[in-house]
Formats: sequence, C-alpha cells, structure tokens
Amino acid sequence: MSQTLQSIRGMHDLFSDQLQNWLHLENTLQQLATHYGYQPVRTPILEKTELFKRSLGQDTDVVEKEMYTFEDRNGDLLSLRPEGTASCVRAGIEHGQLHNQVQAWWYLGPMFRRERPQKGRLRQFHQFGIELFGSTELSAEIELIAFADQLWEQLELKDITLHINTLGNQTDRQRYRTALVKFLTPLRDQLTPDEQTRLERNPLRLLDSKSPSVQALLKKAPAIQDYLSPESVQRYDTLKQHLSDLNITYQDNPSLVRGLDYYNEAVFEWTTDALGAQGTLCAGGRYDTLVEQLGGSSTPAVGFALGLERTLELMKIHTPQPQQLVILSEPNESTLIAPLAAQLRHMNLQCVIRTDFKGGPLKNQLKRAHNTQAAWALILESAEQYQIKPLQTHAATITCSPHTL
Ligand code: ATP
Ligand code: MG
Repeated sequence: MSQTLQSIRGMHDLFSDQLQNWLHLENTLQQLATHYGYQPVRTPILEKTELFKRSLGQDTDVVEKEMYTFEDRNGDLLSLRPEGTASCVRAGIEHGQLHNQVQAWWYLGPMFRRERPQKGRLRQFHQFGIELFGSTELSAEIELIAFADQLWEQLELKDITLHINTLGNQTDRQRYRTALVKFLTPLRDQLTPDEQTRLERNPLRLLDSKSPSVQALLKKAPAIQDYLSPESVQRYDTLKQHLSDLNITYQDNPSLVRGLDYYNEAVFEWTTDALGAQGTLCAGGRYDTLVEQLGGSSTPAVGFALGLERTLELMKIHTPQPQQLVILSEPNESTLIAPLAAQLRHMNLQCVIRTDFKGGPLKNQLKRAHNTQAAWALILESAEQYQIKPLQTHAATITCSPHTL
C-alpha cells in the first residue's frame, strides 16, 4: 500500500467543529471593524521577497529565518507573506490610495512563517489586522487600543493585559543606537557570530532577542527611555492619560520592543498568562516612516495584528443558535421534497435534505434528524399534510397543509 499523504507540519486542516468558533470570531472582527468605519482590503498571499526585506528589515528573525521564499520560473524571488502590513502599504502606494488622505483598513487571512511548530506557533496561521493611514494624532493610537479593548469584551475574554511602550522618534532611536553599540562592543565576545553581525548591522534587533544570555547582558544596558526627546515623552504621557480617562488599564513596559523594524513612538501588545510561552495575542504600534521607505509619500500610520489561533484558544465553545429545517418524507412521497425545499430556500429559510437518511420508515429518519444540528424537521406526510416538529426543544408539533404555508 502506498504511504498516505499528510499536511505540512504546522499547517492545519479545520473541520466544522472547530470552524464554529472561527466563524464566530471572524464575524465579530468584521462587524467591529465595520462599526469603527474600517474598509476591507485583500492582498495576494505571494509578494516579491524584496517587499518584506525592505519593510520588516533584512536583519529581523522573520526575514532572516522564517520566510518561505522561492525562485519563480522567471527568476523572480517570491515569498509567502509573513504578515499583512507590508502588503497593505505596497497596495496602497501602488493604487494611489495613501497620498494625502486618511484610510482605515482591515484585513484577515493566512500568514506563513517557518518557525518551530508548537502550541500557539504555527507555520500557517491567521491574522486580523487594522491599519490607519494619514493621521499623526494620538487619537489614532487610542482608537486602535479602544478597538482591541472592545473586542476582548465582546468575546468575553478576561485577564488580558495591555503592555505599552514608546520607542521615540527616529533621532531618539539613532542616539540610543549609538549608546547601545558603545555598551555592547566591549562585550561582543559573549555574543554568538549571528548576534555579532546583528550588533554591526541592526543593534536594536538584539533587544528583541529570545536568547537568555543576550537578555542577561542587556540588563545593564542603557534604556531607550533615557534617550527620548521631550516631545516623545510628552506624547507618551498624554497617551497614558487618555487611556486612563477611558478606563483602559495598561502596563507601562519599558522593555517592550517589536520584532519588526518599522515602528516608532507608541508600541503595544496584549498578552495573556493562559497560553504559556506563546502569550501574545495582538501587537502593533505607530509606523510613520514605512510608507515613504517603500516609495510612497510621507504618510503617518498606526496598526496592529491579532493572531486568530491564539485568540481562539481562549474562547469558550460557541454554539450558534440552530436555524435549519431538515425535510423528511414518507418513503412514497420523496418526490415532494425537492420542489418544497426550493420554495423554502427562496424564502430565505435554511433548509437541508439529508440524502444519507435514504428514505426508509419515518421513525428511523426522525431518529437520525435528532442527531443533526437542525432545529426543526418538516415531515411531508402527503401532498396535503405536513408536520413541523421541533428537534431541539419539547415544543408541540404543528400539523399544517401546504395551503397554510
Ligand atoms: P512572537 O513573539 O510570539 O513570535 P511576533 O512578535 O513574531 O510574536 P507579530 O509579528 O507581532 O508576532 O504578529 C502578531 C500576532 O500574530 C502575534 O501576537 C500572534 O498572536 C500571532 N502570531 C505571530 N506568529 C505566529 C505563529 N507562528 N503562529 C501563530 N500565531 C502567530
Ligand atoms: Mg515571532
């Protein structure tokens, strides 16, 4: 016998039991985004590799180690998208949608990273993201944070912590970079060759390292907070004040840096203790230079991305209210089923015909119908008489004729 084929490690098939919750989460996200005035955007799953190198940063873990990249037949280097922001920016510039205007977008779809698969860490996972372009106002950050806050409430998720930090502006980061290099250069022997390269090319990336020895070295390193301009400090203080006014609790977390290069000023993450090591559900921040960096005109922006799989881990099983009608008939009346179903479906009623019940005595069909998700059985006793029987409750059966339907 030939060997059976399996899906790729870290990429999962989903069936209806799991998809109940998926659909509930996707609907909630979509409705909330619409409620906040955001427009949907869909971009291709494949992009030129160059896009991610130029946006996320050449020296980030995602670009260096985690992308699925291959050469197309014409020699182009392509990658499966590892995140959504770069594609949104590329699409916005390409279609002239970002220049001198405000755009509020949301997207949802699969992302790909070749990481070690484990709980909460997959190779194909899904993100919902929102991106707000064209506003330097703090109200933009606040809107995103309020969005996530309302989402947790609607999903009835508790014990989620909002962490915030500020990375300052580009000049602050440059000054901090110099200080960090000065501090780490005498200690470079304690870094791996990879980390030494990072120190030369993109030292701030070391702050995001998951290596305990790097984190230990960084304990005594200068902190970004000491290099912030008065404007950035003021901006951050005002943000915190607004969050308090909105009764949104947060943790001021000076060690929060994001794993991608494009952020400045405020960054934020929502975490939970309930998922072990993979506890970050949603993350984002301001990225005022990315649009220009990718060839557009200077456009400020804020955004976040939420991991659907991790959020789903926290959600209770969602059982939608059954709405379906299953049509059964006396064995000799089965030809009545299809025309009646067509009529009911045109009236927008959800109705199913179970060919797997294979006619047979009504008693047997009903027994099977009780094991489905359907709410009612419509039993065709004859062309002149129907019964509607509730399957999920003990409510009375109704007998009627087609003329009363
Ligand atoms: P982590 O530190 O956990 O690797 P990250 O900083 O790489 O996360 P982001 O790029 O900020 O993650 O992505 C936003 C969200 O997408 C994460 O908070 C998480 O919920 C989800 N996410 C990221 N990578 C994965 C993955 N490999 N599998 C499942 N979800 C993921
Ligand atoms: Mg990661």
